[in-house]
Amino acid sequence: KTDTTLLEVNNIEVIYNHVILVLKGVSLNVPKGGITALLGGNGAGKTTTLKAVSNLLKSERGEVTKGSITYRGERVQEMSPADLVRKGVIQVMEGRHCFEHLTVEENLLTGAYTRKDGRGAIQADLEMVYNYFPRLKERRKSQAGYTSGGEQQMVAMGRALMSRPETILLDEPSMGLAPQLVEQIFEIVKSVNENEGVTFLLAEQNTNVALRYAHYGYILESGRIVMDGPAADLRENPDVKEFYLGMS
Ligand code: ATP
Repeated sequence: KTDTTLLEVNNIEVIYNHVILVLKGVSLNVPKGGITALLGGNGAGKTTTLKAVSNLLKSERGEVTKGSITYRGERVQEMSPADLVRKGVIQVMEGRHCFEHLTVEENLLTGAYTRKDGRGAIQADLEMVYNYFPRLKERRKSQAGYTSGGEQQMVAMGRALMSRPETILLDEPSMGLAPQLVEQIFEIVKSVNENEGVTFLLAEQNTNVALRYAHYGYILESGRIVMDGPAADLRENPDVKEFYLGMS
């Protein structure tokens, strides 16, 4: 592991529809090779932060009105979402967003669209994805719209991996999944991080599970970071225990 910072969010403010101030000065750092968790309750601004990072706010009538976001030192606000994908940053959105009418395998292959390294490499990565998600191999010919919520989460993550990303922004991977499946998804995040060296920034309401897998955590409340620290420290923090760990 190195100390290189990949993503730096510096004191950003985000406003929706010109009037609704949702992020009130959020700063965070994502080091290369780490799993960083952005925690907080419903409506705290986690999704907004991830969308600001991947430059997806415009379609929501949102705007970064203050502060800056850089990836490897380059300003994200000047990049298109496609530029970011080319630089290795990929977002897995909340709610999975599979192509319902395509098969599981076709969905995975759509993740490789920016690559120019040919069929052999893409085929090898498909096998890599099936290695992490054996269930997807079993279901590879099924129409994605007919697979379960957990399988669709796997498809969304697998599709992200097919672009050979440097960083995955993962929004609420536990949402709507049974506890056992949540654990399984986080185990996969951990092994992808360890074996492929992929950096993660994940937004999660489930503080309990996120702090067991992340290296570092930021807690967001009403658009402000109220606490941050190594995950092991946050797990032992009395306030975190009282307000966050008791709930999940
Ligand atoms: P969730 O777990 O519900 O996704 P979150 O922490 O990700 O919560 P955000 O989705 O970032 O929170 O929302 C933060 C605040 O911004 C909420 O009060 C929400 O109502 C508001 N908000 C989100 N999107 C928009 C939008 N497009 N226009 C106006 N307000 C919005």
